[in-house]
Amino acid sequence: MQREDIRSLSRIGGKAGLVGIVAFAANIAAMEITRGAGHVSPIWLSNAIILGFLLPARTRDWPWLIGAGAIANLGANLISGDGLLLGLGFSAANMLEAVFAATLIRAGEPVGANLLTNRRILARFLIFGVLLAPALVAPAGTALVHLGFGADPIQVYWRWFAADALGIALVVPLVIIVDTIPLSRLFARRITWTETSVILLTALVTGIVFYQTRYPLAFLPYAILVLAAFRLGPVGVALNCGIMAAISIGLTVAGHGPFALVRDGDIAERIFLLQFFLSVAVFMSIPIATALAERKELEQSLYRAQDELRGLAATDALTGLGNRRAFDETLEREWTRAIRYREPISLALLDIDHFKRFNDHYGHKPGDECLAKVGHLLTETVFRPGDMIARYGGEEFAIILPGTSAEGALQVAERIRQIVEHQGWRHVGSPEGCITVSVGVATIEPTPRQAKTTLFEQADAALYKAKAQGRNRVECARPVSAHAVERKVTAG
Ligand code: GH3
Ligand code: MG
Ligand code: MG
Repeated sequence: MQREDIRSLSRIGGKAGLVGIVAFAANIAAMEITRGAGHVSPIWLSNAIILGFLLPARTRDWPWLIGAGAIANLGANLISGDGLLLGLGFSAANMLEAVFAATLIRAGEPVGANLLTNRRILARFLIFGVLLAPALVAPAGTALVHLGFGADPIQVYWRWFAADALGIALVVPLVIIVDTIPLSRLFARRITWTETSVILLTALVTGIVFYQTRYPLAFLPYAILVLAAFRLGPVGVALNCGIMAAISIGLTVAGHGPFALVRDGDIAERIFLLQFFLSVAVFMSIPIATALAERKELEQSLYRAQDELRGLAATDALTGLGNRRAFDETLEREWTRAIRYREPISLALLDIDHFKRFNDHYGHKPGDECLAKVGHLLTETVFRPGDMIARYGGEEFAIILPGTSAEGALQVAERIRQIVEHQGWRHVGSPEGCITVSVGVATIEPTPRQAKTTLFEQADAALYKAKAQGRNRVECARPVSAHAVERKVTAG
């Protein structure tokens, strides 16, 4: 046997043991409640526990879980004195319900915490798990109860159905949460004050409403559940329903609460009303929380897509640099900032020399590759955070250097020119024999009166000069202080 096999065997063995113990305890507890409630079980838990473990498990592990559940059921029945035959019958009916529900809810795919966050799976859970499986298996249970104890079949049918349906609705979400979400993740983020308050409020309101027996206040906890659906998300809402169920079942069975107000009503009737109350709570609040969670998820994915699109719209596909649009936006922003902080701003425009000949000689594809290489080289040559490199046009690049003086900008431009030349990328159509660039640089300390286009026009003029003076060189626009110009204008 492989190590992997042994590990997986011990894992599933452990889980089966856990299922057996919890289901056994749930059976005993339900029978205890039943005794307290005059032989009417308000909620049947063990099927829900087994179903909750079957849903996320691999199908090949099912026999282990079902076996453990069956033994737990049989054991509890024997202890309660039902006899072997009846015990076997009950056990089989319960397992049938869990397997039937699990198969229909899963529809071929294991189901985990997405039971609560995916609307389609939640709908399958409510229709097949909560309603159909108990409704279809209840006749078998009814027949057994009738044979064993001779009770009224119609009454038994409804009680069996209601107890199982309620157990599944309330307990399966809780089992799945505990089974599939690691505790570390469940509590990974801090639980907020709001969340704590909502949970405490649920317990408090349910406690008060179900302790007093003067007024029919059963509608009041629903308001808290709607609040919880908005504040807690599906997991918290499932937990909240569980708390509400524990408190209301305990107090109703003890003879308290609004359902004791039913005139001439016996315990069976009160429990039936309580089951209705709790089912409505689950059917109302979990779908709301799920729909809200789905919407939130959708909203987040839309935000992500929007960010991505914004990035794409501002990026040049060939070089991965900012495109002309991103350049325009950045230049406008930096220009305004430079005015506010009275700082210089520099712009370098760079154009590859004789690039038409390069294309003509080597072809368009190597031309594109060369552009990408130059673009990459620029990103490695211009380091300062805040500097922005864009592909401005075909074989023209622009570099915005905020807060950079004319000397600094000139240094950057010259460094770029040299580095490109030193790459020695062959270009037979160029007098140098390799790829070279011409750069025009301009620097301005802008004022609010100055046209935003000034910086670009000056850099472009400088580039033109660099081309005219023989290429593979850096030219600088005549450094003019805008303040000096203004002074001259006002003086003249
Ligand atoms: P100069 O030294 O005066 O700048 O000469 P030049 O040939 O580089 O200038 P010109 O503006 O006449 O030609 C630019 C050429 O750049 C035209 C085209 O062949 C090439 N080019 C522009 N955009 C692209 C592109 O996206 N890919 C490729 N492969 N070539 C491009
Ligand atoms: Mg050009
Ligand atoms: Mg060119």
